[in-house]
Amino acid sequence: MTLSNKKPFIAGNWKMFKTIPEALELVKEILLAVEETSSSEIVVIPPYTALSRIQDLIRDSAIKLGAQNIFWEEEGAFTGEIAPTMLKDAGCDYVVIGHSERRQYFGETNATVNKKIQSALKHKILPIMCIGESLEERETGKTIEKVKKQINEGLEGINPEEVEKIIIAYEPLWAIGTGLTASPEQAQEIHSYIRSKLTEKYGNKTGSCAIILYGGSVKPANAFSLLKEKDINGALIGGAALKSESFIEIAKEAIKAYEEK
Ligand code: PEP
Repeated sequence: MTLSNKKPFIAGNWKMFKTIPEALELVKEILLAVEETSSSEIVVIPPYTALSRIQDLIRDSAIKLGAQNIFWEEEGAFTGEIAPTMLKDAGCDYVVIGHSERRQYFGETNATVNKKIQSALKHKILPIMCIGESLEERETGKTIEKVKKQINEGLEGINPEEVEKIIIAYEPLWAIGTGLTASPEQAQEIHSYIRSKLTEKYGNKTGSCAIILYGGSVKPANAFSLLKEKDINGALIGGAALKSESFIEIAKEAIKAYEEK
């Protein structure tokens, strides 16, 4: 699969929410709006238990499936982990790697993020690598330093063609699940930095084609102004992705913003 930032990329991370029946209900509602949202790339990222059931429903549609995590080994005695082949088997095209909740509660580091990215790429699963600063880092002027380190270490040893298959989600920790959103200007500043960093490291093509998502309390009311920014190519959505109305509304706002860019 080749990635393009010519249309907005809208991904819903359902985190640890939704039983199987609830998940199927939500995806059926999203499917009803598939034509209205067809000018965007829609990805649903449910809990593992619902992956293959959802894949059965979306198989012939434009909606794509993602997972919330991955392990780097092929198989073995790793209780509780999930192998790349298992995600592939369940129909996943995408996987979130290094979400701030995994870094914060489950000890993920830039080094483990790097191993997971390499493993996903090997299995042709497109990584969505999450990066972002804490409130303290922002307030002490360390945002760029943090993001730079996450990019350098997370992408260590990955060549430009492979980097083109990686989506980056900038998610300031202070904006995740808090109701606080980075202003469009604040988000654009970091997105522009990320793109320039990718250009510097991997060349013009990789930088200009990169899909850079914003995440952190995205909702219908702020999606348009965020997505209208030059370097914001889409959104990684948590809370507002749990209801079809708000998720679909965000996709529509993103499409409008892209038309006006
Ligand atoms: C997320 O989980 O990646 C996220 C951005 O959550 P929320 O939209 O709820 O802030």
